[in-house]
Amino acid sequence: MKILIINAGSSSLKYQFMESEGGQVFAKGLCERIGIDGRLTHKVPGREDVKQDIPMPTHGEAIQAVLDIMVDPAKGVIASTDEIAAVGHRVLHGGMAFTKSCIIDDACIEAIKKCIPLGPLHNPANLMGIEACQKIMPNTPQVAVFDTAFHMTMPPKAYIYAIPYEYYEKDDVRRYGFHGTSHRYVSARAIDMLGNPEHSRVICCHLGNGSSLSAVVDGKCVDTTMGLGPLAGFPMGTRSGDVDATILEYLMGRYGYDIKEMLNILNKKSGVLGISGVSSDFRDLDEAAAQGNERAALALEKFIYEVKKFIGAYATAMGGVDAIVFTAGIGENSKELRASICQGLEYMGVEMDEEKNNVRGQEVDVSAAGSKVKIFIIPTNEELMIAMDTAELCAK
Ligand code: ADP
Repeated sequence: MKILIINAGSSSLKYQFMESEGGQVFAKGLCERIGIDGRLTHKVPGREDVKQDIPMPTHGEAIQAVLDIMVDPAKGVIASTDEIAAVGHRVLHGGMAFTKSCIIDDACIEAIKKCIPLGPLHNPANLMGIEACQKIMPNTPQVAVFDTAFHMTMPPKAYIYAIPYEYYEKDDVRRYGFHGTSHRYVSARAIDMLGNPEHSRVICCHLGNGSSLSAVVDGKCVDTTMGLGPLAGFPMGTRSGDVDATILEYLMGRYGYDIKEMLNILNKKSGVLGISGVSSDFRDLDEAAAQGNERAALALEKFIYEVKKFIGAYATAMGGVDAIVFTAGIGENSKELRASICQGLEYMGVEMDEEKNNVRGQEVDVSAAGSKVKIFIIPTNEELMIAMDTAELCAK
């Protein structure tokens, strides 16, 4: 089934048009500066990229621009929008309401709206994308795929925060976790690569701009590092990861920050950028550290140390581990970081083959012969998961 995948942000919108069976990508692209002026970048495999300035006052014009270029005789890939069998939307926060993907109807939209307080930046943008598609393609079925859904199998001991229970009961305060579509895809691939054993314990390391780990037993998530929001866990490009809440009170008192300013610091100015003062991009940090920049080296060391600690914690939580998976920008591309993270884990049966590890962006087993724990690199494919869910729900 040919599926259009939409990932709507507040001022941008990514799209991909693909076949749900086999995953062939026909076209993909990005609308930027929505609400400001508007720019479209459209990519078709084997052709030159198209860049166009198109006014996009709202997400409606952005979706229309995507559909127009898709049916354009010269730049497009289809004769008519009727060839789009369904639309799959990436939605950030599904709260407690969504444990899996669902067909978008009025009840689904209401439930996504109810999750806005939990995902105040992303859910309204996701809804704008959904509403624009409904208006322009009223007869095309739409599906919502949630970043949080895969983690909803966590047991209470993993998702409950040790604060008064009423905040969980009345206000839905709990660990949700994100990157769920990626964790779902790579954990399923890992189980396949393990030979589909009856019992499996997998640790997925999604290491990108935003990063999270998940612990997956028999294909079901039992713990993950992100929390109510995506700020939690270990340090990321610009996000702090877990911090002692006392720091907030202390710095807000000293500098007169309000909570918005404080959270902006923790979200945008922290992580490896905050420690290094150099960059949030790990390639820049590698370069700076190689030239002797001590803070860049410390940022890398901190990142590696915290990822390792969570691997140890999750191995303990699951009573062992059969495979560790590396995915996303850093996990797929940085052999140095993969090697540094695995170094010192030999005691738990993790042994990497340095030569096999000398790859980028391929689905491979890089563990040494005889390593008790397999180490896999698995390029993530969230779009394929969204397309497959969309096709499955629409076929029903
Ligand atoms: P997003 O979370 O935005 O989807 P990605 O998963 O694409 O991000 O990851 C982007 C990050 O991957 C970059 O910020 C960069 O730090 C990292 N990255 C990409 N290639 C390399 C590389 N060769 N070495 C180290 N880090 C890399």
